[in-house]
Amino acid sequence: MTRLVGQAAAPGLALGRVVEWPAAGGAAVHEAAPPRTLPEALEQAAAQLRELRERTDSAEARAILEFQVEFLGDPALLEPALPLLQQGSDPAAVWCAAIDAQIADFEASDDDYFRHRVGDLRDMRARVLAVLAGQAAAEVELPADAIVVADDIAPSRFLATRWGPRQAVVLRGGSPTAHVALLARSRALPMVVALGTAPIPPGSTAIVDGGAGTVELAPDPQALARFEQRRDALEQGRRAAERSAAGPARTRGGERVQVLLNVSDATELEGVDPALCDGIGLVRTELMFAEGPPDEATQLAAYGRLLHWAGGRQVVVRTLDAGGDKPVPGWSMPHEANPFLGTRGLRLSLRQAEGFKVQLRALLRAAAGGDGLRILLPMVTDAAEVAAVRALVAACADELRGAGLAHRLPPLGVMVEVPAAALALDRLGPIDFASIGSNDLLQYTMAAARDNPRVSPLADAAHPGFERLLGLVVQGAAAAGIPLSLCGDLAAQPAQVPRLLAAGLRSLSMPAAAVGAVKQAIAGWPAAPHEPPAGAG
Ligand code: PEP
Ligand code: MG
Repeated sequence: MTRLVGQAAAPGLALGRVVEWPAAGGAAVHEAAPPRTLPEALEQAAAQLRELRERTDSAEARAILEFQVEFLGDPALLEPALPLLQQGSDPAAVWCAAIDAQIADFEASDDDYFRHRVGDLRDMRARVLAVLAGQAAAEVELPADAIVVADDIAPSRFLATRWGPRQAVVLRGGSPTAHVALLARSRALPMVVALGTAPIPPGSTAIVDGGAGTVELAPDPQALARFEQRRDALEQGRRAAERSAAGPARTRGGERVQVLLNVSDATELEGVDPALCDGIGLVRTELMFAEGPPDEATQLAAYGRLLHWAGGRQVVVRTLDAGGDKPVPGWSMPHEANPFLGTRGLRLSLRQAEGFKVQLRALLRAAAGGDGLRILLPMVTDAAEVAAVRALVAACADELRGAGLAHRLPPLGVMVEVPAAALALDRLGPIDFASIGSNDLLQYTMAAARDNPRVSPLADAAHPGFERLLGLVVQGAAAAGIPLSLCGDLAAQPAQVPRLLAAGLRSLSMPAAAVGAVKQAIAGWPAAPHEPPAGAG
């Protein structure tokens, strides 16, 4: 038996046979009528990606595909190559030269945002070449127990593949923060990345542990027995979490904890029982804006759908948090050397005041149509920003009054994700509530970029500096009478829940899939003496 260690990218266990991607049934292509010109080929490739986007149900996946569609549709992409095309040069050669120059630029960038998109560019390179050759890639068909091994897998190819419950993916390269890893997590497909170049012979039996980041090749009887035991334990845990999801969230001492959902739009709530939670604690509107800012009526309808689902309970809508790692076409600033420390979130919205007012007007109108709406501001740093928003809200209310449109002023809250705001919550002017964005608060406190796997071990919520800051925020909010929640990834991690409850938090917001396991962790807190802490294992 050989045990290989990579990095954990998507949790879960699988036992199966190694299949090299895409050789196993994946190379099938059928002939299609080749386009006559390179611009036509780009349009066909973009059409394929748009079709894939229509079929995908994940907002993150749609955002990835949207980036590719936008990129292929950008007239600047082919501009330098137009003279060559007019001279009759081979379209495939011209395409390779154009996209390779972009790939080299993205690879050389010191900005993680661009480096993370190199895989998406390579994916487009191959897709356009296939279109030019008149080949339409067929869907990859994999054996039910395939352990797929690849150097890397392009997000659009991942999305075009039908993954089964017994399969897993092992990448020689990649990183846990790459798009394909995010997609694997959202599909509960075990994934190990950064395994290196050790030989993994096709056809061999392998056990993949996506949570531990390990691959056992040709497992011996003991390893197989361990696998069976762990798989049974995981399955039991999953069933117990499903049962807990339906019940209320109470600590061992009977104290009630508010459990809220994080969503990007109402489509994510299809099939989710509203009884699972106490409302919606974070609507990330930037994914609604992935194709550019929608108009007021479109936004109003989207917020209305969320309020309808919540049935009078709270719906906390965050204003656009664009910039950083989430650019929005037609909204974000051009390239900044340090985007996470630049014009993102509220800073950007305040610079785009007219566009920001469209969102505020839609929110004020939605608030009149349903109870529970609250406005949450991202990346707040100081009181002047909150005052500027209040002035814009007042101007929007005047405009709506003038137009005879029903509206209401909803509660206004802030994300606590900039350390300066965390330390001076009581100095941000009057605010109605606050929500800790632990993803950003951790990256800014630990000076460890959230999209850089090389420093991700530093972003540890157990660091005494972060724990102390968390405690100060909870105390500061209590002293100022500001209701406080936490909506970052920490709230979705059962192992972190005891830490958050011990810090004094009693409101947590998370993706629907995490609710069951988090409620279990809440029920087990505080752990009895000699018991493993709640949420461990
Ligand atoms: C956070 O920073 O924790 C958060 C919830 O916001 P986002 O992840 O969207 O930046
Ligand atoms: Mg944030």
